[in-house]
Amino acid sequence: MKSIDSTENLQRIDAAHHIHPFTDGKQLAEIGTRIITSADGVFLKDSEGNTLLDGMAGLWCVAIGYGRKELADVAAQQMLELPYYNTFFQTSHVPAIQLSKRLAELAPGDLNHVFFSGSGSEANDTNLRLVRHYWAAKGKPNKQIIISRWNAYHGSTVAAASLGGMKSMHKQGALPIFGIEHINQPDWWSEGGDMTPEEFGLARARELEAKILEVGEENVAAFIAEPIQGAGGVIIPPDSYWPEVQRILNKYEILFIADEVICGFGRTGEWFATQVYNLKPDVMTIAKGLSSGYAPIGGSLISDEVAEVIKNAGDFNHGYTYSAHPVSAAVALENLRILDEEGIVDRVSDTLSSYFAKKWASLSEHPMVGSANSKGLVASLVLTPNKESRAKFASEAGTVGLICRERCFSNNLVMRHVGDRMIVSPPLIITESEIDLLIERAWKSIDEAYEQVKSQGLWNEA
Ligand SMILES: *Cc1c(COP(=O)(O)O)cnc(C)c1O
Repeated sequence: MKSIDSTENLQRIDAAHHIHPFTDGKQLAEIGTRIITSADGVFLKDSEGNTLLDGMAGLWCVAIGYGRKELADVAAQQMLELPYYNTFFQTSHVPAIQLSKRLAELAPGDLNHVFFSGSGSEANDTNLRLVRHYWAAKGKPNKQIIISRWNAYHGSTVAAASLGGMKSMHKQGALPIFGIEHINQPDWWSEGGDMTPEEFGLARARELEAKILEVGEENVAAFIAEPIQGAGGVIIPPDSYWPEVQRILNKYEILFIADEVICGFGRTGEWFATQVYNLKPDVMTIAKGLSSGYAPIGGSLISDEVAEVIKNAGDFNHGYTYSAHPVSAAVALENLRILDEEGIVDRVSDTLSSYFAKKWASLSEHPMVGSANSKGLVASLVLTPNKESRAKFASEAGTVGLICRERCFSNNLVMRHVGDRMIVSPPLIITESEIDLLIERAWKSIDEAYEQVKSQGLWNEA
């Protein structure tokens, strides 16, 4: 679509009438937004005619890349045929039925059932109510506590933000709600001290057991976690972490909710990251890559055992007007067809992961980059004034990260910062030469940020 107005005008109207998520409104009005007008493959176009490489696949979601006409066609056809109907009160429709079958085929283990929502946040709201309802139905109404981790991200509704471990989110709106307990995250770089990554991974996993014993197994409903923390800074846990967590989960009578909103649908080289880490979830949160962001949809994949209990416990008094929205469901189905039939997930695991890992790791040769890790096509690097001691910058966390993100932006690369970590999660259809371009722009931007940090007197250890 052609821009209807000058960039300046659009920015002014945007600042006047549009409140943006996770944004400082005053700063937005001062700096002005970049207005994205179209996109194709891994590239975005803005209203000034710049072409940006989208290293974040939108918000981790555009797995198959932009501009796939098949999805537009399916959406248009579904809108004409049946634009909307609900799945409450003994009704269903074809896209919902087909998508649930397809998800049951793709999901690992016995996750053969799905409850649909409009987003990942809503799915985690569902999960909170689902697991508490499950235990109540089994005659254990005291099992209500859900254990989560600090710096986890599970979404932004009241329940999802409570489940998440973002203190800046808890601060607004009197969160968390009742019955959520947080343990520490497996971020070795920032919190591992003198331990080896292996020792640290075990120690952090064992906090789960300590917390279960502290609050009482008879009061714990579930543990929720992202296989790889995304918004927390793409924190890839030490190898010792997940096996130990799974051992603890096996030992106690609690459910495991794996939040695969980012990791799911090929991001880590398998359809789901729980397959990479050999985890056995009872409930799995899905969204983002499910439709490649072309239409809003999320869901909870549910095991045979949990579904059986819920189905036999009368009405589940819960649901969304747009649960299994037919247009979103049809779009998701087409997206899954493309991911599968074009071998996109296989290509990530067979060739792209190792190519990307090698290139990404080369960024750690830069004097300001402490470590550069990746799993499949999700990656982070840590900016540091001292690689040896893993020091943090003396400036407020995120100061250097923001400088680096701004350098990336002006070099036409979308790379996000979380504190002083830089993260990417490109579309899964990225080519080798586009990876080269991403790395080239990243290096240039980090280097410019490095010069700026030095010249602004920010090259100091905390
Ligand atoms: C984005 C995200 C969510 C929330 O999904 P929304 O669709 O934004 O509501 C939940 N969990 C994880 C791990 C996410 O990255």
